[in-house]
Amino acid sequence: MATAGQVIKCKAAVSWEAGKPLSIEEVEVAPPQAMEVRIKILFTSLCHTDVFFWEAKGQTPVFPRIFGHEAGGIVESVGEGVTDVAPGDHVLPVFTGECKECAHCKSAESNMCDLLRINTDRGVMIGDGKSRFSINGKPIYHFVGTSTFSEYTVMHVGCVAKINPEAPLDKVCILSCGISTGLGASINVAKPPKGSTVAIFGLGAVGLAAAEGARIAGASRIIGVDLNPNRFEEAKKFGCTEFVNPKDHNKPVQEVLAEMTNGGVDRSVECTGNINAMIQAFECVHDGWGVAVLVGVPHKDAEFKTHPMNFLNERTLKGTFFGNFKPRTDLPNVVELYMKKELELEKFITHTISFAEINKAFDLMAKGEGIRCIIRMDN
Ligand code: NAD
Ligand code: ZN
Repeated sequence: MATAGQVIKCKAAVSWEAGKPLSIEEVEVAPPQAMEVRIKILFTSLCHTDVFFWEAKGQTPVFPRIFGHEAGGIVESVGEGVTDVAPGDHVLPVFTGECKECAHCKSAESNMCDLLRINTDRGVMIGDGKSRFSINGKPIYHFVGTSTFSEYTVMHVGCVAKINPEAPLDKVCILSCGISTGLGASINVAKPPKGSTVAIFGLGAVGLAAAEGARIAGASRIIGVDLNPNRFEEAKKFGCTEFVNPKDHNKPVQEVLAEMTNGGVDRSVECTGNINAMIQAFECVHDGWGVAVLVGVPHKDAEFKTHPMNFLNERTLKGTFFGNFKPRTDLPNVVELYMKKELELEKFITHTISFAEINKAFDLMAKGEGIRCIIRMDN
C-alpha cells in the first residue's frame, strides 16, 4: 500500500487524564517495526476493562493513552519478519498473545504466553520499549498492546488473529475480547456437564456470553446473579433460566443459591470484577464436585478470603484470561462458529455509534445500559 513504511496521520481518541472524556485528536502512527503489524481499525467496541483502566482507580495510571482492545480491522502494512499476515488480511486484535514458541504456547492447557501475555501497566511496544503513537513528537501510550480507539494502530503480530475475510467485521469484532472470554470460560474452563446447574455472576457482555457457553455445553439450569435487575429480561435470550438479585435477600447469596439447588450449583462463572462476587461464586458451588471460574478483573489490592475447609470439601477454584483460547490458533475457529450459525452475535450488539461519539459508549456502560456498543471508525 502507498502508506507502507510511512508515518500515517489519523484520528484517535486520546485519554489525557483518568476519568476525563476522551478527545479526538490527530495522531501520528509510526510504521510497524520487526514482528509488528499496522492495522486499519474499522470497528471497535468498549469493554469494561477499558473503563477500569481509564478510571485508574487502584490501577497504575498511564496517560496520555489510547484505549480500546475489542475490534476488527484490516492489515495496512507489516514489519520485518512478519510472515503470518499480509496487507489486506482481515484480523482481530487481542489483548493477550501467542508467540507460538514459549512453554505456554506449546502447552495444550495454557494461553498465558510468556512473551505476550496481558500487561496492563505497559504503554509501549515490547520490541524497542517505544510508543508508535505521537502528537507533535510527544508519545501517546498504548493499552494492552492493542489501542484500537484509533483509525490505525500498531500491534505485535503475536496478538493479531487472522480470520475468514467473509466474516462481517462489524459483528465478529466483539469476539476479540468479551464474548470469546465468557464463552471460553464456560466451554473451555468450567465445562458444565449436560443437565448441570450453572450460576453466572454479572450479566454484562462477558457474563451473558458465559451463559450462552453454558447453554451450548448443555447445562439445563442457568442462574443469573446481578445487582442490576434491568439485566434479567435481556439475559433470558442468552439461556438464563432463573435470576437472583443479592439485594433482594437478607442472607448471603451463597445460601440463597444453595437452597435453590439442593446444596450448591455444579459450576459458577464470575464475570463482575467485584471481589465479594468472586468469593460468593466460589462458596456457592456444591461440595464434592463444584467448580468456580473467575473472569472479572479485580481491584489491584483485592484479597480473596475463604475458609480453607471450602477447598477440603472438594470444591475447585479456577481463573481464566480470554476464556483459555489461544488467540491466533483458536480465535479463527470461534469466528467460524458464528459463520456456521452455531453462535449468535447480533443479540449482544445493542448500540452502534460513530467514532466522534465515542464518549457515549462510556456513558452507556456507566448507566449499565445495553450490552455491546459498536463504534464505527468511518463515521
Ligand atoms: P459489565 O460492566 O458490562 O458487566 C458487569 C456486571 O456485573 C454488571 O451487570 C454489574 O451490575 C454486575 N455486578 C457488579 N458487581 C456485582 C456483584 N457484586 N454481584 C453481582 N453482580 C455484580 O462488564 P463486562 O464487559 O461484561 O466485563 C465483566 C468483567 O470481566 C470485568 O471485570 C472485565 O474487566 C472482565 N474481563 C475479563 C477478561 C478476562 O480475560 N479475564 C476479559 C474481558 C473482560
Ligand atoms: Zn508464547
